[in-house]
Amino acid sequence: MSKETISILVADNGSPAIDVIKSNLGNYSDINYTIDTAKSGQDAISKAVDAKFDLLLVGQDLPGAKGLKMVQEIIKRKLGVPVIMIVAEGQEKLGVKAMDKGAYDYLTKNEIKTVALNRAIHRVMQRKKLESDIRESFRKLEKLAIKDGLTGLFNHRHFREVLKNEYKKAKRHSQPLSCIMLDLDYFKAVNDNYGHQYGDFVLAQSAQILKRLVRDTDFVARYGGEEFFIILPNTDLQGAFILAERIRKIFVNNKFAKDKVSETVTISAGISATSDENVVSDDDLIANADKALYRAKWRGRNNVCYFEEIESEDTGGLKEELKKMEDFHVRFETVNDNIKDACIESAHNILCEIEKGWDYISEHSVRVSRYAEKLSRKLSLADEDVNVIKRAALLHDIGLVGIKSNIIKKKDKLTDKEYTSIKRHSNIGVRIVERTKLFQKELPIILHHHERFDGSGYPHMLKGETIPYGARILAVAEAYDVMRSSTVYKKASSEAESLAELKECAGTQFDPRIVSAFVKVIEKMQ
Ligand code: GH3
Ligand code: MG
Ligand code: MG
Repeated sequence: MSKETISILVADNGSPAIDVIKSNLGNYSDINYTIDTAKSGQDAISKAVDAKFDLLLVGQDLPGAKGLKMVQEIIKRKLGVPVIMIVAEGQEKLGVKAMDKGAYDYLTKNEIKTVALNRAIHRVMQRKKLESDIRESFRKLEKLAIKDGLTGLFNHRHFREVLKNEYKKAKRHSQPLSCIMLDLDYFKAVNDNYGHQYGDFVLAQSAQILKRLVRDTDFVARYGGEEFFIILPNTDLQGAFILAERIRKIFVNNKFAKDKVSETVTISAGISATSDENVVSDDDLIANADKALYRAKWRGRNNVCYFEEIESEDTGGLKEELKKMEDFHVRFETVNDNIKDACIESAHNILCEIEKGWDYISEHSVRVSRYAEKLSRKLSLADEDVNVIKRAALLHDIGLVGIKSNIIKKKDKLTDKEYTSIKRHSNIGVRIVERTKLFQKELPIILHHHERFDGSGYPHMLKGETIPYGARILAVAEAYDVMRSSTVYKKASSEAESLAELKECAGTQFDPRIVSAFVKVIEKMQ
């Protein structure tokens, strides 16, 4: 059996404890150790954030953060690394306190010279193994899962297995087999207009409608986002068409009613059958249904099309029309971007006029937007999303126009009352920007750019990943620029100081993964 490797971070004041630990660990030959050291609380936290350790040994007198505080900090940041606290003889109470705060164990300085250290490390390893067993079990369970969580329908993976089996069965018994691929029409607009929760509600209700309309022997699956697939064993093309039309009409006459919203959502459907002349595998059934669905959409949606119909229609016309639409779309998007850029520039000019030559916001916003763009690219965001974040960065502080001039231009520290007033700028910004109807996607980023990762920000005290991703990115880019500027809020910090501060606040104020990416961005800019 290969030897287990365990990586340990020893955070203690001065070398004696570290040397003792190193030499004691050397006595146990059944385990490989890698040991890193940290001499201060801040050093320990940033090392623990950046690298994955199996164990943290923390001394009680750590400069910059007493051991107990460190334990609390590690637990708060949910780094998931077990902590053992090292206390002086006679200070065992402190060790017990640390365990109350979430430490895994404690050892006295004498104990780290003995087998007790080895025993404690073995327990940590047992825990590591247990955790990896649990993760493996989850992976297995996921594989076994056949249902989609939102709709309760079969999931995509299970659907593929069922289709394979049903195709084989149909061939073996020379029975017909048909499929319906079904997609909700204009569903993106449903989400955009009424929110994702309502969208999820429509999806779950649609699944219920489909289940109600099929036979017990049929299979309904969620194929993807707002696409469903129905497998109809022992059913010919005509039978499938009758069912698909029935489904289409039910959707036309249905209202999805939730809270104050009551909307109709139509469907388009594509049908394939083993009788299609090109079908020689279950994959062909999917491909044909997909093509037929595409044609149903092209006909204007709220439509059912079966594969064999397509061949008889004029496909030359379809290609030409699709190409024209694609050309139009690409060119229109450029026009749209130009309009948005002009609108942002005007907003900055107006703000500058109202605040009589005060151009801090436009200069700050341009710099933040540059940082945010680089950071978004580092995080591999798609071009479209990068542009949204860039625009949100340019507009994020526009709401300051709604705050009294003497407060926003104040050079000294703000009073609590003034700070409370400043905090209104996220909401005001949204109220201003939403009037143009041009920046729907930018709005949530503007609104939430002062939320904090630990849930203590404003205006909605959102926490962790419930904060829109763009707003978490903007928060890091903006904080960096504010620290590096010697304007309104505080004196300029150096690059190193600013990055250290970001790291210090990773996990509390900022998303730690975004901070790590940003540090790399800035380091690369040297
Ligand atoms: P079309 O008529 O061409 O099908 O237009 P569409 O807007 O329905 O199609 P598109 O593929 O552009 O958008 C599909 C949308 O479905 C986008 C995506 O946000 C949404 N969606 C996918 N999965 C889910 C989900 O689980 N919940 C919610 N609420 N929306 C989802
Ligand atoms: Mg759709
Ligand atoms: Mg779709």
